[in-house]
Amino acid sequence: MEPQRSPLLEVKGNIELKRPLVKVASRLPLPGSRRKRGPDQMEDALEPEKKRTRGLGTTTKIATSRPRAPVLTTVPPTQGQTAAPKVPKKTGPRCSTAVATVLKNQKPGPAVPAQKPGTAAPPMVGGKKPGKRPAWDLKGQLCDLNAELKCCRERTQMLAQENQQLRDQLREAQQQATALGAERRVLEEELVRVRTQAEQGQQELGNLSARVLELEERLGTQEGLVQELQKEQLGLQEERRGLAARLEEQERRLQGSEAALLGSQAEVASLQQKTAAQEALLAERDERLHGLEMERRRLHNQLQELKGNIRVFCRVRPVLPGESTPPPGFLLFPPGPGGPSDPPTRLSLSRSDERRGTLSGAPAPTTRHDFSFDRVFPPGSGQDEVFEEISMLVQSALDGYPVCIFAYGQTGSGKTFTMEGGPGGDTQMEGLIPRALRHLFSVAQELSGQGWTYSFVASYVEIYNETVRDLLATGTRKGQAGECEIRRAGPGSEELTVTNARYVPVSCEKEVEALLHLAHQNRAVARTAQNERSSRSHSVFQLQISGEHTGRGLQCGAPLSLVDLAGSERLDPGLALGPGERERLRETQAINSSLSTLGLVIMALSNKESHVPYRNSKLTYLLQNSLGGSAKMLMFVNISPLEENVSESLNSLRFASKVNQCVIGTAQANRK
Ligand code: ADP
Ligand code: MG
Repeated sequence: MEPQRSPLLEVKGNIELKRPLVKVASRLPLPGSRRKRGPDQMEDALEPEKKRTRGLGTTTKIATSRPRAPVLTTVPPTQGQTAAPKVPKKTGPRCSTAVATVLKNQKPGPAVPAQKPGTAAPPMVGGKKPGKRPAWDLKGQLCDLNAELKCCRERTQMLAQENQQLRDQLREAQQQATALGAERRVLEEELVRVRTQAEQGQQELGNLSARVLELEERLGTQEGLVQELQKEQLGLQEERRGLAARLEEQERRLQGSEAALLGSQAEVASLQQKTAAQEALLAERDERLHGLEMERRRLHNQLQELKGNIRVFCRVRPVLPGESTPPPGFLLFPPGPGGPSDPPTRLSLSRSDERRGTLSGAPAPTTRHDFSFDRVFPPGSGQDEVFEEISMLVQSALDGYPVCIFAYGQTGSGKTFTMEGGPGGDTQMEGLIPRALRHLFSVAQELSGQGWTYSFVASYVEIYNETVRDLLATGTRKGQAGECEIRRAGPGSEELTVTNARYVPVSCEKEVEALLHLAHQNRAVARTAQNERSSRSHSVFQLQISGEHTGRGLQCGAPLSLVDLAGSERLDPGLALGPGERERLRETQAINSSLSTLGLVIMALSNKESHVPYRNSKLTYLLQNSLGGSAKMLMFVNISPLEENVSESLNSLRFASKVNQCVIGTAQANRK
């Protein structure tokens, strides 16, 4: 803006006023002043906002468009100072007084010092008031008043101009203020928007921070997981390496195995060929073996027949502790024709004839009785030795020949010991029954290799006073007698069976042991004080043997009977017949009757008589399938070594000799 002369400077009377200008300028806000109101202040107030807005880079346009307040630049202080010196020249004293009066009503500003005393208003020069006109100088006074009026008018005009100017400035300032207000509103809106944005940004930042935290947390977890996985991966890699090594090893082995397999397959093929050839050979050998087995059976049987279908073995028991030793030579066992190495077959018993000795007064002469049997067992012979001699006979039962073994002799001569064995579980003392069964089981096992299947069924009964009792009875039937009867197994059947008796399948020694134990218990139940019943009854152990060769459709079966006969002693005729003795007599008669029937049956068989009196006793009836033509019989005659038993021993030996003389015709195997 160009420098402007104030209109007051052109007032008539050359009165120049610089104060108002200065005053105006002084009333306007000075640069840097901190008034609260005014456009400049607003501008200043807006400055920071503007700066901030500019800082945000959004209001550059607004800042440039805003007009600067012209008022502030219209009267620079230098102009005022340059104009001031002119004032004293043109201003009269009245006028200066008027101005001074006017100015009196205004506050003196600090910008006044430019006025020099004595230059602008002479009446004031030196601080002296112009002299008062005398009262008569009305003209002068009027002139003064006119001058003063004029001055006031000028002043008024000047003030009006100034007022106008100020109004213009005000308007301009208001416009500016309006513009600035609008700008401010815009800026405020902007500010609000920016704040909102900032808040949103803050919020977003908060959210993002939370999210960042969350993500960091997750990252931590993930990192932990990753570490774990890495560790796991390492482990797995290690494992994989191990597995790969194992796989390699396995593959190597597999290759080796495959090679071996190929070799083996070739070997198998060749072996199959060989097997086929061997099978053919085996079949051929099997055929031959079977032929040989049949031949063996035939020869075995022939041998048995040569030995005799009825054989008698004599066994002398040892002297037991507490028994009186017999005199030397009482029992002699002369060696056989082959010398001492030959098994003895002869026995000599010397008996002193006391009656003849008494009559002559000389020592009683002795009579020697010689007996010959198939085999004689002196007192020292063991159970195994005895069994060895009969094992071949027992085997005949497997070949289908009925076999019957008796133990005959007086009570106490060793029948039960021979058949069942000694007391206690001593295996050395085992008798014929357990040994025979063990032998049969073992041979049956061997024959199973040739296609034979055997089964065994055992029964054990006693015959007392011609009544049959089951020794294998259990439970309530224990000790009961008389309810067992000997019957044919079926109409037209040759086979005999005892009713109500147990027939127990056996396949091992243990089962046989259990049966013998049970029989022993059952005998003990029947024992009475006066009577050792087992001595007075026949015990018959029977084993039904059934063999089958399914491949060849062959069957064979035969009973093996092992009989512990009742004591053969006779009743002393000199004994008084009390009630006990009468009973004993009846027992003895029954025993004697059955034993003589046995003798008669054997005789009848030997003589091939048409009628064999089997039915004369329960014993022979029960044993009829084990005696006769196709059967093989062995009788043990058990002898007491004691001299006091000589009479009974002679009786037994005589009975056995008679049996020994019998020859039963060629045995026929029970083959189907
Ligand atoms: P039996 O049955 O004929 O009446 P035992 O067999 O009961 O006779 O025998 C009578 C006693 O003689 C028993 O104590 C028995 O152990 C014993 N005895 C029998 N024979 C022999 C033997 N060969 N060796 C040892 N002791 C025997
Ligand atoms: Mg006995």
